[in-house]
Amino acid sequence: MPGKTNIYSNAYGKGGKGIVNMLKDAGIEISDQGKAILSFSHDMSYITPVKPVAVAFPKNKEQVATILRICNKNRMKVTAVGGGSSLTGSSIPLKGGIAISMERLNRIIEINIEDGYARAEPNVTIEELNRKLERYGYFYPPDPASAHMATIGGSISTNAGGLKALMYGSTKHWVLDTELALASGEIIRTGSSTLKLSRGYDLTALVCGSEGTLGIVTQATLKIAKKPESSGIMISYFSSIKDLAETVGELKKRGMPLIMAEFMDHASLLEFTHARKQMAPKYANYVLLTSVSSTGKNDAITKLCVKIIKKHKPVKHEYIRKNKEITRIYSARRELHEKMVEEAHMEGKDIVIGDVIVPPSRLAPALLEIGREIKSSGQRVALFGHIGDGNIHSNIYFTPIDKKGIKEVMKLQERIGRIALRNKGSVSAEHGIGLEKKNLLIEELKSKDSERILQLMKEIKKAFDPNGILNPGKIFDI
Ligand SMILES: Cc1cc2nc3c(=O)[nH]c(=O)nc-3n(C[C@H](O)[C@H](O)[C@H](O)COP(=O)(O)OP(=O)(O)OC[C@H]3O[C@@H](n4cnc5c(N)ncnc54)[C@H](O)[C@@H]3O)c2cc1C
Repeated sequence: MPGKTNIYSNAYGKGGKGIVNMLKDAGIEISDQGKAILSFSHDMSYITPVKPVAVAFPKNKEQVATILRICNKNRMKVTAVGGGSSLTGSSIPLKGGIAISMERLNRIIEINIEDGYARAEPNVTIEELNRKLERYGYFYPPDPASAHMATIGGSISTNAGGLKALMYGSTKHWVLDTELALASGEIIRTGSSTLKLSRGYDLTALVCGSEGTLGIVTQATLKIAKKPESSGIMISYFSSIKDLAETVGELKKRGMPLIMAEFMDHASLLEFTHARKQMAPKYANYVLLTSVSSTGKNDAITKLCVKIIKKHKPVKHEYIRKNKEITRIYSARRELHEKMVEEAHMEGKDIVIGDVIVPPSRLAPALLEIGREIKSSGQRVALFGHIGDGNIHSNIYFTPIDKKGIKEVMKLQERIGRIALRNKGSVSAEHGIGLEKKNLLIEELKSKDSERILQLMKEIKKAFDPNGILNPGKIFDI
């Protein structure tokens, strides 16, 4: 695991051992053994791990509340951990303390088709929930590429997006209610299982994207949707990014019902075609994957989409309709980042993944500017992203032992963030702020004359967590 050879240790600290014993006495399963400590010291980012003093494994919400009550009283920091797939350091226990593994809270409690929701404990993965919903012809739309690892609790806390956010929006659009254990140990319900609610401040929306800093989600009620018809996946290869971006622009301008529009640059497309056991077509530098909501190959929508795409002169255009092949294509796209990281590790390298977003109308200029910036930096970068909603992920390679090189990577990451800001976008679309983007967040708020927001966020955090025990150091420094 390059980049993860330096692991910061946290000694028990004042009273630490005593608190661990108090938790044990309260019947909480807790481990301070090396293996558990190590596996809860990192997330899936390149960021240096930090060891928690111990890992707690609560069995139910009452035990979560007990842990919080004891830790709050004794000022012990806590970090909730779901799938541990965060890419920004947000599930790393920065200040040590207790890592709270949510893995025992893993039940799907209710599927209610008539009322349009599913209720689940936080450690159910998005993939598990969708497997269950499939039987009813329904699905839960937030769709991060990490759906096999990302849990309901973790994805609410990072407000995850994903491949289908283009049509369905991100997690916050699908959470009706959370059961939230507060730092004090009280448990509240932030919403309701009804499809609408207007009763003052929306605390459910506040929990979305709060990265475990306001409370611990012990259960969630999620809106579900009927599975749409899809006519298949269109794969269009382009020689220029401008042609690809303009294709997406026209598909959107003409109001095509896009479920997904994903792009990959040359490095990513080589990975993608390799996973499909194919060669990249000649002159193909970029690939666009699109799927539309329609009833079949010959319906008017599909035909119009194909016509629009072909107008922009792809070097090759394929139209995949066989279910088996569609599944393979989705897997190849989902596994892209993991595969890149695996291969980078084999070369003694690691990857920093960026996550910026611009309005779709600014995609072409933003992508061209990002391309120029990457070229002048001389760094190795693979780009892909959920291009339909303007979300661009830059995978920047680095050698962990090369401290100067790491600084250059961080500078490039910042410059890409600034390109997004200049193009009316944001420095984070779906991965969150974590430890990684605290400075960029400040830059974004300044650029929007809204620095006051940072102060308001800190005041909100204080109202929920007066002693600052919940995942401290994430999103902002107190
Ligand atoms: C290969 C790969 C692909 C990815 N693709 C996408 C993508 O397409 N779209 C996208 O949006 N993200 C993506 N991600 C990022 C990541 O998977 C998501 O952010 C995911 O939602 C995190 O879920 P998790 O359960 O792993 O959370 P964790 O990493 O465990 O935690 C994330 C944050 O949530 C908090 N948390 C966890 N559980 C709880 C809880 N019960 N209550 C309160 N706080 C909690 C943690 O403290 C932390 O701050 C990807 C990651 C990887 C590794």
